[in-house]
Amino acid sequence: MSSLNAKIQDLFNEPACEKNRGKDAKARKRGCTKPLTPGAAAGGCAFDGAKIVLQPVTDVAHLVHAPLACEGNSWDNRGTASSGPTLWRTSFTTDLTELDVVMGQGERKLFKAIREIKEAYAPPAIFVYSTCVPALIGDDIEAVCKRAAEKFGLPVVPVNAPGFAGSKNLGNKLAGEALLDHVIGTAEPDDAGPYDINILGEFNLSGEFWLVKPLLDRLGIRVRASIPGDARYLDIASAHRARATMVVCSTALINLARKMEQRWDIPFFEGSFYGISGTSGALRQIARLLVKKGADSEILGRTDALIAEEETIAWQKLAAYRPRLEGKRVLLNTGGVKSWSVVHALMEIGIEIVGTSVKKSTIEDKQRIKKILKHENHMFETMAPRDLYAMLSRDEADIMLSGGRTQFIALKAKLPWLDINQERHHPYAGYDGMVELVRQIDLAIHNPVWRQVREAPPWECQPVLADESPSTNNETTAVQAINFAGTSADDLGEC
Ligand code: SF4
Repeated sequence: MSSLNAKIQDLFNEPACEKNRGKDAKARKRGCTKPLTPGAAAGGCAFDGAKIVLQPVTDVAHLVHAPLACEGNSWDNRGTASSGPTLWRTSFTTDLTELDVVMGQGERKLFKAIREIKEAYAPPAIFVYSTCVPALIGDDIEAVCKRAAEKFGLPVVPVNAPGFAGSKNLGNKLAGEALLDHVIGTAEPDDAGPYDINILGEFNLSGEFWLVKPLLDRLGIRVRASIPGDARYLDIASAHRARATMVVCSTALINLARKMEQRWDIPFFEGSFYGISGTSGALRQIARLLVKKGADSEILGRTDALIAEEETIAWQKLAAYRPRLEGKRVLLNTGGVKSWSVVHALMEIGIEIVGTSVKKSTIEDKQRIKKILKHENHMFETMAPRDLYAMLSRDEADIMLSGGRTQFIALKAKLPWLDINQERHHPYAGYDGMVELVRQIDLAIHNPVWRQVREAPPWECQPVLADESPSTNNETTAVQAINFAGTSADDLGEC
């Protein structure tokens, strides 16, 4: 545990973290982990965070050393996609029982499970996750993994992020540390080149990175490792030979990017593939960093040409939605998704932003949003569900874009809602992703169901006397009479 504590302290001191830079030494030492509220849905433990980051490595077996529920709670909670291997979707756990704990059988059971996986699946590597119970009873996972790796001749990677260590975000970072300590730099590629890059913190949700990769392919840029979306073990093991890194979700893996820069001199930048300007900016930054590291400067011109072509196509497609969406009011309660690029693109087609959360936006992003929003008070860190519901009930928005946890607030207010967080079913990255996002907003807003659910229910309709019924409504009244057997048409009125 002392090595885990040292690692956590090291993570709290991360100099590349923007929030950390604004803190004094004492505040940095306290870290970012907030105590959890008993009874509240905590949003995942450190183990869950580590699993989120590593599970998308698709050809690896992910073995959870824990009682059954830890794996049950964390398995497949995101819609990340694989272009090949399916082993990552098979659930492996040692299923520790009370008897194992009492009899001290944990380490033996873990070793046996590693052997069974090796014999049945022959994966290129096995990732072993520590959790609360084995950490509390003192199972030495690192030693078991080392012994198993020697015995079975394959990498067995310990991921030391037991749930009680802290938040989901801390677990994300501990997963990055596990890659740094045990995986990256352990294989030498024989095809390293000046156009190789790493993408960190890209999860390939709903396969959205596949909307971006063709753009990189056209520029001759090779993604040596995408960590973790659709990743392969050997690609990650040789990620140290990339020339530049783009960090997509900086809160998850900024420590990994900075340490790779320190150790292997790979420069990094934080960027986003959400929105048109976001995607163009990211492509330009990648090209610039590659040139800085020795690539031919002609790539800059080719990048500009590709951006011009793709932006023209995207704006043409978006123009078709302008007449349908102009003046519509959107409330963005995104949390994780980079708000700035989405805000900018939506405003470009005439959508009004009546509020946007900036909780996970960088300081730079907040400045940009402040500049383009009409009212500064349309930016908020977080909004309590009660306030969110009040705002939606007052009809101050036409749609809410958010994560699944707040969807019922919008639905209760009888308002269209679109999932924009990790459980979403549509890819929103790159130019085509932005067009898809706008298409989904259009579909949601114009779905006829909203008109129907907002109508007063028939049982709240005022009775209208037969002789007062307008003659033109006879047909509607007749239909209602059929739907409500036992009630005569004369009893019914207009809704
Ligand atoms: S908090 Fe501990 S016991 Fe609960 S899921 Fe996380 S690792 Fe498992």
